Amino acid sequence: MNQLNYVNQLRQQHKMEIPNRFLITLVRHENIVENCFCDDCRPRRLMALRNFDQNRVYDHFTRYLPLLENAKLDNYHSHVLRQIVFGEHFKRTSLERSGLRYFRCWAKNEYPHLKGKELKTFCDNVNEASWVYNNWNKIVENLTDRRMKFDARRFSVHMFYESKSLAWCLSYNDEQLRKKGKMSKDQPLYPIDKVNNCHLFTT
Ligand SMILES: [Zn+2]
Repeated sequence: MNQLNYVNQLRQQHKMEIPNRFLITLVRHENIVENCFCDDCRPRRLMALRNFDQNRVYDHFTRYLPLLENAKLDNYHSHVLRQIVFGEHFKRTSLERSGLRYFRCWAKNEYPHLKGKELKTFCDNVNEASWVYNNWNKIVENLTDRRMKFDARRFSVHMFYESKSLAWCLSYNDEQLRKKGKMSKDQPLYPIDKVNNCHLFTT
């Protein structure tokens, strides 16, 4: 089935937006298009490597491409750090200018179109970014504990927020090790019920 028929079929089935739409290309093209992996681009990409010598192929596969992955993680982490700073700035300035004490009160007035859960999620996100900003040293202390075996560059703002609890970090660590098969299933997980992340702020 060609991609156009396939997409039409998907549309009929779901009557909605297609998940992971970026995987599907509808515009016909003659050259390799960045991030396109269609039936035409796959053999084109393969052909483009035909004059590479084996050592070069080896270096790309084992060294350069994993290094790029590393650079992407650094890049992602720098975006998360920016999000934290933007969140803190947003909270600080909105409270300063309004004289209000709680961000939620401010947001409720300022963004009346945000209702219920949406308002709560928005406020939680801002408050978490702000909390992370103001308690970064505690988070660093937990994440640099010698027991941690994961790469925290993958962490979102929310996960950094959760990292305020050493128990949460240990539990996450166990989970990751288990996923990698480095820990047997019989070993107990660090008791998650000890993780108390609730209501550090009442905004
Ligand atoms: Zn293509």
